[in-house]
Amino acid sequence: RRQQAPDYLSGLNPEQRLAVETTEGPVLVLAGAGTGKTRVLTTRIAHILATGRAWPSQILAVTFTNKAAREMKQRIGVLVGSAVEGMPWLGTFHLIGVKILRRHAELAGLRSDFTILDTDDVIRLIKQLIQAEGLDDKRWPARQFAQMIDGWKNKGFAPKDIPEGDARAFANGKGRELYTAYQERLKTLNACDFGDLLLHPIRILRDHRDVLEEYHRRFKYILVDEYQDTNTAQYMWLRLLAQRPKAGRPISPSGGEIDQTPASSRTEGSQGRPAAVLDGAPSRSGDRVSASKPQQINICCVGDDDQSIYGWRGAEVDNILRFDKDFPGATVIRLERNYRSTAHILGAASHLIAHNEGRLGKTLFTDHPDPEDAKVMVHAAWDSEEEARAVGEAIEQHQRQGLHLNDMAILVRASFQMREFEDRFVTLGLNYRVIGGPRFYERQEIRDAMAYFRVVAQGADDLAFERIVNVPKRGLGEAAIRQIHDAARALRVPMLEAARKLAESDEMKPKPRAALREIAANFARWRDALDNTPHTELAETILEESGYTDMWKNDKSAEAPGRLENLKELIRSMEEYESLRSFLEHVALVMDAEQDETMDAVSIMTLHSAKGLEFETVFLPGWEEGLFPHQRALDEGGRSGLEEERRLAYVGLTRAKKNLHIWFVSNRRIHGLWQSTIPSRFLDELPEAHVEVAEAGNSYGGYGSGYGGSFGGGSFAGGRGGAGRQNPYGASRFDNLGSSGNQSAGGARTGSADGGAFSNTYSTPGWAR
Ligand code: ATP
Ligand code: MG
Repeated sequence: RRQQAPDYLSGLNPEQRLAVETTEGPVLVLAGAGTGKTRVLTTRIAHILATGRAWPSQILAVTFTNKAAREMKQRIGVLVGSAVEGMPWLGTFHLIGVKILRRHAELAGLRSDFTILDTDDVIRLIKQLIQAEGLDDKRWPARQFAQMIDGWKNKGFAPKDIPEGDARAFANGKGRELYTAYQERLKTLNACDFGDLLLHPIRILRDHRDVLEEYHRRFKYILVDEYQDTNTAQYMWLRLLAQRPKAGRPISPSGGEIDQTPASSRTEGSQGRPAAVLDGAPSRSGDRVSASKPQQINICCVGDDDQSIYGWRGAEVDNILRFDKDFPGATVIRLERNYRSTAHILGAASHLIAHNEGRLGKTLFTDHPDPEDAKVMVHAAWDSEEEARAVGEAIEQHQRQGLHLNDMAILVRASFQMREFEDRFVTLGLNYRVIGGPRFYERQEIRDAMAYFRVVAQGADDLAFERIVNVPKRGLGEAAIRQIHDAARALRVPMLEAARKLAESDEMKPKPRAALREIAANFARWRDALDNTPHTELAETILEESGYTDMWKNDKSAEAPGRLENLKELIRSMEEYESLRSFLEHVALVMDAEQDETMDAVSIMTLHSAKGLEFETVFLPGWEEGLFPHQRALDEGGRSGLEEERRLAYVGLTRAKKNLHIWFVSNRRIHGLWQSTIPSRFLDELPEAHVEVAEAGNSYGGYGSGYGGSFGGGSFAGGRGGAGRQNPYGASRFDNLGSSGNQSAGGARTGSADGGAFSNTYSTPGWAR
């Protein structure tokens, strides 16, 4: 035992310290949120460097996001200074994958200057292939196939590996053929997609022993954060790097398939066992050389099975559960003290996650519960606008109490929820930043829709026109667009005008000409409607008649429903403005809002992007059935979808250090229809002892007046009925929630005139009944 521990070790608890100082051999830290897993990783790296166990370039450290990598780098920098600059192998799986691939591109049939295609490129490419096969690309959408390929790549499947059933599921059994053709095409383009950034390195490491050995020599220490969310391909990649072949055991040059069955279910001496994945397991019969001792593997993974939230993207929580089988002799360390959150927040989160069945179960405690600590606050609002307004007020209130905006975050379940907050904050002049994705108005579908509106409002907006002239596809290729450009320049008119002229001339081929005629006629009609049609109605018409909405409706990809949701939300947001022009002006201002990394700003992000982060104060809006848990998870039936939603809730709750505010609204417009909503079942699962229902007083100020007119009328009642999800509430509920002196939401509910029907349809949290 060291007499005097270096500074960076002295702050750790004994288990953390064990995890840091057990530098040799495999280590798994399996522990709940906020227990210092990431801190263990950074300190461990500092320790390895400080004690001269390895050079910075000999450490491979994998994080889940680029943001996490930056933060880790910064934290290590604090501990060891500039040494961290020499850590080229700290980053996401993708980043490290690119690095490896650039160094050995030729082994994957690429040159080292290969390009990485984005999703749009990939889809365009696949579409060409589908058409080249003579298939109908409406029936077999490229986007769907792109998703399938991504799924295969996440599982580590090359074309030859995909299961028969999968191969048959697309294009009348041409799945495998198309996948093969796609990979070939990438090669000729000297390009790869995101999945290849892992898949190519896996093949290279597996098939080229000299390369594998080079990396084995290079990486003395391997560290992985958020291990619970690694997918099969990432897992294969890690095992290749982490596992030393036993002496004399050859790597099969042809590269036998990598074993993907869980170690626990493997049978000894199973056929076709991969030579490249050598798991250091006890010797197998007939395998004489395996008696020799495998080399030391210094891998440290940290994770939390309760925070596995990427199952929908192929993450395999099993990877963490079988760690000690994959790496025999592993030291498994559990951390139980949470340093992040108050006892109330921790109590709420632990109680909630206990409703999941498939979990290892962990103890979490925090020292010194402070009687001053605020309970978890649950707030009700009438609708999402009210919710955004109230959250804005709460933020300003926290700010007055001395909190920085940087210390606060809003975590949403679905990206469309961001819009209301962004708009509100712009109105308030409150700085915000969106993390992990584009801001609402920067999303592709929103930009496309806005481009249509801009051309209607301002026919000379060529940039907007160009954006949508062939979206959805109308057979206007590059040549046609160049022709429009040329005509516009020659005639000194905007492109829309030039298009109209071209449509009348015979300079163009019949097909593009017909397309231009239709576009010109459409815009002329929409333009005429501009002054005598309600602008939201017009906007909807534009998206319908242009075929834009249908484009996404016909799209089978996983993100298409989210894009349609965003478009509905866009239309909804226009209601708040008098005209299309004033709306466009507003958006221009929002888009202009600064996105400066260094400014003090509230963070807005999805729950998925919040993993690993922490904030003093966290707002969790939209806790309603159908939104959270999300309808798609509920529709799936079964337990797993719901349990993943619950883990997501757990991630959300555990991001907060001191203050946690949860919101639900009584009415939300989903898919364009007003629906009365039911509070999330997750609210019901929070323990009474740690939760307080906010008083309906100040946060609802000015509430009754504005709403009677806009929502009391037919449109709201109609929308609600149309939604047909449950019995509509009487108007009395609105009065109650808005203005009654009743202090708790539960009280307000049972006190309402329709209390009877209400208790049937409304899942009132147990503690509030
Ligand atoms: P998550 O599961 O959310 O990723 P985590 O287990 O990675 O959480 P960290 O982010 O490493 O947890 O730590 C949570 C907070 O607790 C951080 O602010 C960290 O600095 C602090 N912390 C961790 N260990 C200690 C300690 N021994 N003493 C004081 N603070 C600590
Ligand atoms: Mg962490």
